Amino acid sequence: MTTKPLSLEDIFLLARNAMLNAGANEENADAIADTVMQAERDGSHSHGLFRVPGYVASLVSGKVNGNANPKIQSRTPVALHCDGDHGYAPVAHRRSLHVLADAAVDNGISVLSIDRIHHFAALWPEVETLAKRGLVAIACVSYTPNVAPFGAKQPLYGTNPLSFAWPRPDAPPLVFDMATAAMAMGDIQIAARDGRSVPIGTGLDARGHATTDPSEIIKGVLLPFGGYKGSHIAMMVELLAGPLVGETVSFVSKERDNGDGGPPQGGQFVIAMNPEILSGGNWIEQSEGFISRLSKMDGVRLPAERRYLNRKNTGPRQVNSDLLEQLQSKLK
Ligand code: NDP
Repeated sequence: MTTKPLSLEDIFLLARNAMLNAGANEENADAIADTVMQAERDGSHSHGLFRVPGYVASLVSGKVNGNANPKIQSRTPVALHCDGDHGYAPVAHRRSLHVLADAAVDNGISVLSIDRIHHFAALWPEVETLAKRGLVAIACVSYTPNVAPFGAKQPLYGTNPLSFAWPRPDAPPLVFDMATAAMAMGDIQIAARDGRSVPIGTGLDARGHATTDPSEIIKGVLLPFGGYKGSHIAMMVELLAGPLVGETVSFVSKERDNGDGGPPQGGQFVIAMNPEILSGGNWIEQSEGFISRLSKMDGVRLPAERRYLNRKNTGPRQVNSDLLEQLQSKLK
């Protein structure tokens, strides 16, 4: 695989111009480009520039609204709803996360249901944003079915990521963000593109046999992480990010999708909790003592540490040369 260096600013501009070129307005293009740049900055490669062809395809096909005007409403003081207007998720987040944070700061807890969005990104930006307001946050989305429930060989669940963030007084938030599949689909696609094998247990080929070949898994099915336990978390995500927020489950999302290569329409569940109110003001000593002990254990690294380390590097990022050429040629 050959790569070329690209500055973070140029990554942002490349993604922004690709979106504008495909018909997005400035607000929508900026929101996507920022998400793509942040993913490349933090080393979340499967959700950076790699996703731009899919973003573009769904704008061009008309499935996703590049002029989305998401609207937020309070159904109760703590139950907020955002209608994504068929746009990409980061635009809805720009309009709604600060309102969710305000409601949790005031009331101790608040929940955001988002519908009619297309989520094609990592989920840490949502929860990290909320944790920076001093809130504990959880978010999840479902996708099209490509994961077999434990015991099955046919897909029913999406890769259904779940993210969590915990605020810290003198450090960046503790964050994890993970697919409930043994491996995210973007990473499978990148492994297939780069000719790398994946661990056994990641997925099955089209005949239902275990394989280490990511190209065969793409034709077959992914497995959930952690056997039946991970399978149940994937099931929970289907329900939280689908019916609970007024949206569909993965297999219904797929049925109405046009197959243009971009993400299907779906929903997102986000909950924010104010530890000051919920704990009565006595949480920092306990949580910091716990995190300190955890991080000092031999062999342990905190989730998000890798991303935060990458973030300190403000220099250029190495981008796959073929991908770069593909994106740049479309802008000529
Ligand atoms: P990983 O398995 O790479 O990582 C999952 C979490 O575990 C991260 O928080 C990561 O932190 C942490 N972690 C990884 N390795 C270690 C380690 N050795 N010790 C301690 N912690 C570790 O993520 P996935 O492949 O499951 O998911 C990748 C991304 O794909 C996620 O951002 C997810 O949101 C996204 N996704 C999005 C979908 C969508 O529909 N929008 C669908 C499915 C996935 P760190 O980041 O610091 O490495």
